[in-house]
Amino acid sequence: MISSTAAKVYFDTAIVQGKPARPRPRVNTLTVFIRSLDSFQSNSQTLKYMLNNTGRLARHETVAVKVGGISIGGQAPVVVQSMTNTDTADAEATARQIQELAEAGSELVRITVDTEAAASQVATIWEKLDAGGCSVPIVGDFHYNGHQLLDKYPECAQALAKYRINPGNVGFGRKKDSQFSTMIEKAIEYDKPVRIGVNWGSLDQALLTGMMDDNSRLSAPLDAEDVMREALIVSAISNAQKAEEIGLGRDRIVLSCKVSGVQKLIAVYRDLAKRCDYALHLGLTEAGMGSKGIVASTAAIGVLLQEGIGDTIRISLTPEPGGDRTKEVIVAQEILQTMGLRSFTPLVTACPGCGRTTSTVFQELADSIQNYVRRQMPLWREHYPGVEDMNLAVMGCIVNGPGESKHADIGISLPGTGESPTAPVFIDGAKAMTLRGDNIAEEFQQIVNDYVEHRYGSV
Ligand code: SF4
Repeated sequence: MISSTAAKVYFDTAIVQGKPARPRPRVNTLTVFIRSLDSFQSNSQTLKYMLNNTGRLARHETVAVKVGGISIGGQAPVVVQSMTNTDTADAEATARQIQELAEAGSELVRITVDTEAAASQVATIWEKLDAGGCSVPIVGDFHYNGHQLLDKYPECAQALAKYRINPGNVGFGRKKDSQFSTMIEKAIEYDKPVRIGVNWGSLDQALLTGMMDDNSRLSAPLDAEDVMREALIVSAISNAQKAEEIGLGRDRIVLSCKVSGVQKLIAVYRDLAKRCDYALHLGLTEAGMGSKGIVASTAAIGVLLQEGIGDTIRISLTPEPGGDRTKEVIVAQEILQTMGLRSFTPLVTACPGCGRTTSTVFQELADSIQNYVRRQMPLWREHYPGVEDMNLAVMGCIVNGPGESKHADIGISLPGTGESPTAPVFIDGAKAMTLRGDNIAEEFQQIVNDYVEHRYGSV
């Protein structure tokens, strides 16, 4: 067993007074791989496209858009956003959920603005957040009556940091153009950016029907699915161009074209990115519940991000009844972090467990330490810059435990079945101490605390 004092002694002697923190090699294996392919002409050009000369993923070039204090596009880090599911007319509940989403790491939060009751509460929501010290920009999601609500509730138009406009749900017939124009004019008047967000479930039917008719007259008509994809893109880009003609700057426009199928989303955004340089909001619409929603969103968004496409992401998870809305923020962050695009929170590497470890101790420790570091992040972020890059490992037995633990900043290898009841802890690649007894979880947590303080506290 080791006391927290003993852990402090380790850090004091190994890190603060003597040895600096182990330099962490940042070997980009994809870069090395591509260099080794240089003599080949075949596939290397495609792979090289994905990397710029710093070895990082090259991003599709887009025009930067400022939303409140947040930049979307123009090489800014990919922004995490989310959406509330409260009744916006309930200002108290909506402000509380926005605050929770912001504390979880959402950098923009969208709210539904669908009725006069909702619009009338937007400024109150903003005031409540401001009073609570929360400055996350709020985005208003409008359908059908946005032109009226923005006109009738100027304090709502002012409090929102961005307006989402769905060109398929702006209005019908001849009114459509004028209602769209009114919303753009309001954005110009209040100096706000907009997202022109097309969704295949509410695609402009007149546009789609016209394109289907044109297609049917071709000598070799395209598949209906290809026409639908084209209609999504045409709707987004043509409405963005209309907004520019009305006078909204290109740096005030974000586009999205959401569908609910993984392959369809990838195909749509690849085309969209080829054909415009508007900042792109990425998301699989109606992704679904639980693992289905997470897997589908990750598969689609991961491929596109890997190709440099996407400036802001939202994971549209259906929460379990009474479930935590912040899950969609955590999933978005973990996609970006596991892809090496951004860092938000130290992540715990853990083995899956197998017949070599029949106790649940290591699963419980992996879970408790991950939750612990997540809870600490609001404080750690402020006092320990860089801590979000820390790696932890919790392993179930000696087979892979010490090896994996050595690759982490701090790793612990718990005893498997029949192994001696000791848990070696590795810090910066070297065995630092051995834990024993009933308080391993508490002691490991203390070791993590001490490491954070010593390694990141003096930065
Ligand atoms: S580290 Fe040990 S317990 Fe974990 S999966 Fe590997 S062999 Fe099984």
